[in-house]
Amino acid sequence: MGTDDTVAACTEPLTRRRVVIAGGGYGGTTTAVRLARSLKPSDDLEIMLIEPDPCQQALSELDLVAVGPSRPEFCELWHPTVFRDLPVTVCYNRLEDVHAEERAITVGHRDDDGQRVEYWRLVLATGAIAFVPPVPGLAEHAITMWSVEDAQELQRRVEAAFKQAARSPHASERQRALSFTVIGGGATGVEIVGTLGQMLPHRAIDAGLDPADLRVRLVEGRPEILYDLRPGQRARAAARLKRMGVELVLGSMVERVEDSEVVLESGDRVDAAVLVFCGGAKADPDAVKWGLEFDSSGRLLCDECLRSPAHPDVYVIGDLAAFRDPATNRTLPMLAQFAIAEGHHAAANLLREARREPPEPFRPRMRGEFVSVGPRWGVGWMFNVDLSGIPAIVMKRITYVKYWYSVGGFRLAWKRLREMLAMAR
Ligand SMILES: Cc1cc2nc3c(=O)[nH]c(=O)nc-3n(C[C@H](O)[C@H](O)[C@H](O)COP(=O)(O)OP(=O)(O)OC[C@H]3O[C@@H](n4cnc5c(N)ncnc54)[C@H](O)[C@@H]3O)c2cc1C
Repeated sequence: MGTDDTVAACTEPLTRRRVVIAGGGYGGTTTAVRLARSLKPSDDLEIMLIEPDPCQQALSELDLVAVGPSRPEFCELWHPTVFRDLPVTVCYNRLEDVHAEERAITVGHRDDDGQRVEYWRLVLATGAIAFVPPVPGLAEHAITMWSVEDAQELQRRVEAAFKQAARSPHASERQRALSFTVIGGGATGVEIVGTLGQMLPHRAIDAGLDPADLRVRLVEGRPEILYDLRPGQRARAAARLKRMGVELVLGSMVERVEDSEVVLESGDRVDAAVLVFCGGAKADPDAVKWGLEFDSSGRLLCDECLRSPAHPDVYVIGDLAAFRDPATNRTLPMLAQFAIAEGHHAAANLLREARREPPEPFRPRMRGEFVSVGPRWGVGWMFNVDLSGIPAIVMKRITYVKYWYSVGGFRLAWKRLREMLAMAR
């Protein structure tokens, strides 16, 4: 079915109670699959997923696409495959506006082909985007890491840097051309720099270059990396990076970025022929225009059942949602594991509501957290036990195979596992 036909199908008048889910990432896809699999005819529900991209991008594995052999499909989970046998209408378009008072949304651009879709319940799961602070020169020179396109752009810049180095007769020029700098010592920055540190030497040899000319650096304003982990795990990750030849430049913020150079507040300068910024995320910026309540960072507020406080017909989940954990009184971090858990919970609550039962509060539980430091090594914890090395990376990968299994069954999980083993080699 072409896009036009799909949009036409989306906007048919409301005959049954329609659940509209906007955003087909970790949270939205989980909600749609879980709800579709649990439906009984007596529930009298129809499900519509609105997502512009025909495939879900598995953001947590982007580092491998960025530096490994170029295989973007590794990060992609095709919606047509996932929803082939499920009662879900997938509308490959964007949610443009929400009219919560009228229980309706606009799909597609409101000045162009914008069309009205009515709903019984709406689930907003449109995620987040990379946040780039207004540091002079940063947006012009750095790439962010938030999509397969970003990862492919990094691939292109690595290739261009190798070509530049191969043309240079002097070692100092080659070293400058082969300077790779990642800003941000959180999980994403460590994963990207770890993969660069492990894979670039092999790629340099394949390109006829001397790996000794490579300079891979991680710049972090705080004195340590991976602040979300315990100090012992931070130290292990730092030691692993150093063993790979990654230089840690810690304790000074970036003041500005000039052509191929990062200038720090300390006055130090760091070569950066290729620069990646992994300094943060911001909830979907369009969401603040939808007439729903949001917090100071632009995440939409939700109650303990994951519903927008003034509009209980609207659920908000994943990175977009500012869910305050009652156990800690803190807003949940933007993590796939919470988006998935909220997706399951939202689906269960929608079913309860369809069966005229009250929705239940969401009680988040952080069972563990893992960060890869290169494709074959990791750090993290699970059930309060610290893990590092191969067990940690295996646990990280298992988490995502589990996700693929939960939305795509055994066939997709097996495909994923095979691709993952091929990429890590
Ligand atoms: C490089 C990287 C590594 C990460 N690693 C980890 C990790 O190891 N562990 C972990 O727990 N988390 C990790 N995360 C965070 C994790 O990816 C996010 O928390 C998770 O994707 C949030 O899920 P979501 O469903 O809220 O949003 P997403 O998965 O981002 O999905 C949002 C979807 O909404 C769609 N969309 C956007 N706007 C609209 C619109 N107007 N209408 C319709 N659809 C729209 C988008 O196309 C997208 O498909 C990582 C993130 C990045 C960027």
